[in-house]
Amino acid sequence: MTEPFPLGPALWAATAPPPPATAPLTESGRADVVVIGGGFCGLSTALHLAEAGLKPVLLEAREIGFGGSGRNGGQVIPGLKHDPDELVAMFGPERGERLAAFGAGTADAVFDLIDRHRMDVPRTRTGWIQGAHTDEGLAQAERRAEQWARRGAPTRLLDKAEADRLIGSERYRGGWLDGRGGAVQPLAYARGLAKAALAAGAVLHTDTPVAGLSRRGTTWTVRTGRGPSLTTERVVLCTNGYSGDLWPRLRQTIIAANSFQVATVPLSDNLRRTVLPEGQVSSDTRKLLLYFRLDHTGRLLLGGRGPFREPRGAADWAHLERIVPKLFPQLAGIDFDHRWCGRVAVTRDYLPHLHAPEPGLLIDIGCQGRGVGLQTRMGQAIARFVARDDADALPVAPSPITPLPLHGLHRLYAAAVVAWYRLQDGGL
Ligand SMILES: Cc1cc2nc3c(=O)[nH]c(=O)nc-3n(C[C@H](O)[C@H](O)[C@H](O)COP(=O)(O)OP(=O)(O)OC[C@H]3O[C@@H](n4cnc5c(N)ncnc54)[C@H](O)[C@@H]3O)c2cc1C
Repeated sequence: MTEPFPLGPALWAATAPPPPATAPLTESGRADVVVIGGGFCGLSTALHLAEAGLKPVLLEAREIGFGGSGRNGGQVIPGLKHDPDELVAMFGPERGERLAAFGAGTADAVFDLIDRHRMDVPRTRTGWIQGAHTDEGLAQAERRAEQWARRGAPTRLLDKAEADRLIGSERYRGGWLDGRGGAVQPLAYARGLAKAALAAGAVLHTDTPVAGLSRRGTTWTVRTGRGPSLTTERVVLCTNGYSGDLWPRLRQTIIAANSFQVATVPLSDNLRRTVLPEGQVSSDTRKLLLYFRLDHTGRLLLGGRGPFREPRGAADWAHLERIVPKLFPQLAGIDFDHRWCGRVAVTRDYLPHLHAPEPGLLIDIGCQGRGVGLQTRMGQAIARFVARDDADALPVAPSPITPLPLHGLHRLYAAAVVAWYRLQDGGL
């Protein structure tokens, strides 16, 4: 696995409770289900399988939350990338509404689990604001707020004055507020899920990369890079943006784009009162969207696109540091003390994908940068599917593994798309 730079966000590691004690797999054995990947999806799957009475064993190559789950912005945003009416147009009224309802419940899934398992996770739940950066963005915001309100969600449209006040920036023409959204300290949440899964009876092994998967009849052998292997009837693969070559062609079904983030030093009380003063989290309607929020230490975190390659040094975050005072002139001259990045798995249709290429194997991939809620809820659905053999539990039907055309050239292709989007988004 290529080593991302820096290894992980020191900010989250410094402000999360310690991880539960876990160790590598040292002996071969048998498991009811083997779950591969210790992010939100794998952990939620293992937790819910254990709660259903099975004995899952989760194998993580590095540490709990090593992937996107320990690197993200911690914004808990309900819904999928597609608006509910769009899903209905794509899948018809029944399947489309079912998928919209699945997306609607993703934020609840996170906050319910945190409460139910009394996880030690810094969190807020005062909503998500999507700021509109153009008139077209504003029209989109109106449509979204209306579509969700029609389905009973607590949304409201924000005029320019209210958006200025709630965001603390005059850069937006307005926007909408979705009261279901909120924020979590993501690594604390990943570790909280791990502790809950262990308490429910799941077994977790870290520093245990899976090196091979093979099947004979109904029995799978999961071979680890350390030597020992597990046999099982069922395997769930949740490696998402950190997927390697474990399953043929899987990695070629996504663009694993790096998302970059910076964090300022903690703001003074006076400044805190001027940036997202009511504690909402926010992202905007740009195609290359910017996302930002205050964390529980009073830092402003801002994230967005960066170079497609792995970063080489602090200069790769400089564009985000320049944006902060443009959005928030009151923060001109502020220092930044954390910079990090991680991979977001984007599929061609911007939908989460499930694949069942062979009996007993289920693969989840593609979170489009909305994985805190989505992957938590996906884990619940996968566990129900596996434990009860209930195909209706899955929000999307398993589809064939279809690599993106010319995936080998995706860096070039992505660079061209990014340049085009940047032009459309206008400057900042
Ligand atoms: C910088 C950044 C900001 C983001 N911001 C947000 C946000 O604010 N809100 C939001 O909802 N989403 C956000 N996301 C997306 C979100 O973090 C992800 O969607 C989510 O964490 C994915 O969870 P996962 O469990 O599917 O995968 P991951 O958390 O990526 O976990 C996959 C795991 O699989 C492991 N693995 C890989 N190969 C193997 C192997 N062979 N054997 C064993 N283990 C293996 C990896 O080590 C990794 O830990 C962001 C993502 C990034 C990178």
